[in-house]
Amino acid sequence: MSTAAATQAVIDLRSDTVTRPTPAMRRAMAEAEVGDDVYAEDPTVNRLQARAAEIFGREASLYFPSGSMANLTAIKTWTRPGMEVICEAQAHIYLYEMAGVAAIAGCMPNTVPAPSGTLTWDLIEPLIRPHIYYRSQTALIELENTHNMHGGTVYPPAISDDICERAHAAGLPVHLDGARIFNASVALGRSVADITRKFDSVMFCLSKGLGAPVGSMLVGSRDFIDKARVTRKLLGGGMRQAGVLAAAGLIALEETPKILHRDHENARHLAEGLSKIPGVSIDPKRVVTNILIFDVASSGRTAADVCAALAKHGVLGGATGKSTIRMVTHYDVNRAAIDRALAAIATVLGASS
Ligand SMILES: *Cc1c(COP(=O)(O)O)cnc(C)c1O
Repeated sequence: MSTAAATQAVIDLRSDTVTRPTPAMRRAMAEAEVGDDVYAEDPTVNRLQARAAEIFGREASLYFPSGSMANLTAIKTWTRPGMEVICEAQAHIYLYEMAGVAAIAGCMPNTVPAPSGTLTWDLIEPLIRPHIYYRSQTALIELENTHNMHGGTVYPPAISDDICERAHAAGLPVHLDGARIFNASVALGRSVADITRKFDSVMFCLSKGLGAPVGSMLVGSRDFIDKARVTRKLLGGGMRQAGVLAAAGLIALEETPKILHRDHENARHLAEGLSKIPGVSIDPKRVVTNILIFDVASSGRTAADVCAALAKHGVLGGATGKSTIRMVTHYDVNRAAIDRALAAIATVLGASS
């Protein structure tokens, strides 16, 4: 015996990391040519790295098991223990990477809150330490695009270009946490190469909206990537026949950017629906990529309580604060699923729908 509700799949909006590999990815994984990547002899990993470098217009790239390891590798490669890394106060490297900046790179994060998560040189410049021997020194500036905890916001390229130029003039490298840089590229209608060209290193995830089961890339100069390969090995990130994973990554990289606009349209549709539900506050105009964060304070309920009730209706979101909920669209949720999620949210918050 099964009811319609019981047979309906769970609508998982907790993150775009929950995407499953497509049938094409599964086939490519099964057929992947492999070798030992610690010897740099895995042809599929080498193809993925060459292709990522080409797409970003850079000399080289390196495949990683996770975005956190790729960010940490970049940070460790650009810094020495006892130095400082400037980042936004809600940066992923600061909040969600196990304090690796401090614990492993031996650096101190120096943070500042920025409206929409978009740093500007005016916010960064006062954090740069003077060159005095008894002061810790600034080693690196880190930006995040799209900004996860600010709801998938996108850096205007003029602002990130300006930060890079001024940082370089001050002798500082800039690393981009571009976990979702393809979402930013689609939202701006500009290539990833174009919007990241001034950064010294770029990390992006294959395993988020692009849909690969595992993996992230670090992109930069040949010299930087050669050093990063050493740091990756130190962190335990040297993989062997990783081509079975890279094969899915190649498909994610080539095919998924073409359809990411659908996720953005679905996120905007979800935001517009949410804005009409009593007890929810969200400005749909601020939803420009695939992440939305809405507030349920005026419903008198906590975010945790609303998420628990939604889960009983087969809709998953994540509480990011006492009254804020994050939802992320991706290729495993279509427009019909978004409409079902909206109906469930309206029911849970006691509105008639
Ligand atoms: C997901 C994410 C990462 C990397 O996360 P992993 O889970 O380690 O792959 C880095 N930065 C941002 C902004 C992210 O959303």
